[in-house]
Amino acid sequence: MRSQYDLVIIGGGCSGLSLGYQLAILEGNIPKTLLIEPRLKYTNDRTWCFWEDTHNPFSTLCMHHWKELLVVSEDRETVLICTGRPYQLLAGDIFYEYTQHKIASNPRIELRLGIRLIKEAEYKNGLWLLTTNQGIIASKLVVDTRPSLTSVAYAIGEPMENSTINALEIATLWQSFLGYEVECEVPLFDPHRATLMDFCDPNSEYVGFTYVLPITKHIALIEFTTFGALPYSAQELLTHLEEKIQNITQGQTYQIKRTESGSIPMGMNQDALSRSKFNSTNTLTYVYAGVSAGAARSATGYAFQRIQKWAIECAFTIVNNAHPAPQLEDSFIVRKMDSLFLNVIKNNPKLGPSLFVALFSNVKTDRLIRFLTDQGSMMDYAAVVLALPKRLFLKGLYKLVLHR
Ligand SMILES: Cc1cc2nc3c(=O)[nH]c(=O)nc-3n(C[C@H](O)[C@H](O)[C@H](O)COP(=O)(O)OP(=O)(O)OC[C@H]3O[C@@H](n4cnc5c(N)ncnc54)[C@H](O)[C@@H]3O)c2cc1C
Repeated sequence: MRSQYDLVIIGGGCSGLSLGYQLAILEGNIPKTLLIEPRLKYTNDRTWCFWEDTHNPFSTLCMHHWKELLVVSEDRETVLICTGRPYQLLAGDIFYEYTQHKIASNPRIELRLGIRLIKEAEYKNGLWLLTTNQGIIASKLVVDTRPSLTSVAYAIGEPMENSTINALEIATLWQSFLGYEVECEVPLFDPHRATLMDFCDPNSEYVGFTYVLPITKHIALIEFTTFGALPYSAQELLTHLEEKIQNITQGQTYQIKRTESGSIPMGMNQDALSRSKFNSTNTLTYVYAGVSAGAARSATGYAFQRIQKWAIECAFTIVNNAHPAPQLEDSFIVRKMDSLFLNVIKNNPKLGPSLFVALFSNVKTDRLIRFLTDQGSMMDYAAVVLALPKRLFLKGLYKLVLHR
């Protein structure tokens, strides 16, 4: 006999669990919900970092934060950012455990592991029929958070699924990264100060930088990141990362405690976004969410806080309006500014480091953080525009208008 639900959430990653959590804490009259996830077990596969926000329900779970951050240019010019809104770190395993625990406490919602959708959903007689490896499930509403294109963590040695042509069509730029959490015998790190971007020599393919998050004097997460027209696999980033770690650890021995990697689309084009929808449902009863539905901010790749905002909104519309909310779209001005910025970087990767350094040194920190966290005012946008080289941006603007 097939099972039937009011709501099925496909994918128990960040968006699926966040929505499950928001529904679970409403208690009372929530729809009968099933959350399906192929994994059998959650591991500490990623760390989420974000600027503190009072609306973030997971702020108190963060294991570390920094009020001082460095941005370092390729010729070692350093900008120190001191902020009243700390940069926080949430470990993946803590988020997974906490959300699963809350979900388990509400009998109206069930998380089932080891189950995946194996065929696109069909709509029959007012119900979505979902074919899984464990049979068919019927549901009135569906929220689909499968990663269609990327944001997948490619392990070292694992080939990337997307062809080059696809990658170029999907997004303006790709943020690819490989990180090691390392532990050194000697106290090498300052846990009060993180390095947001330490740029490597400019080149014509990508803007590359190292990201260092010291958690204790002995332990730090060190990542090598690229913003490029193409995504890079973990294997391709490996030599760069190991070289950077050698420099940072000054040849001292270190142990690798954990690795993480991924490729996130920055500035997904509208065609790719609609193609990323697995089927075009045109209905309020089947919506897409998560990074594959555009949750990552184009100019930064940050998605966690945006997913939380969506999850709160989506739980509200499910309970009050009987339909789920899709991933929220950015305002016109944010979309245009991000697109302009990404295109300028794509066409001038060698200038990327100086652009970022200009942003961090010329815009007041609170303004910049508001802009980066989708909370910018018109004054904040203006400050960002004024901080950047005018000629380059006017040229970019001209190109953008011509290609509309
Ligand atoms: C290593 C890493 C670090 C990151 N760090 C940050 C950060 O610091 N700050 C930030 O803002 N963003 C960060 N991101 C970006 C973003 O926040 C994460 O990718 C986030 O997990 C995206 O959530 P999601 O729900 O879209 O995708 P996911 O969390 O990947 O969830 C999708 C889920 O769908 C499941 N699934 C796949 N196929 C099927 C199927 N057929 N049927 C059912 N389920 C399926 C998957 O198993 C997965 O659990 C990071 C990403 C990665 C990869």
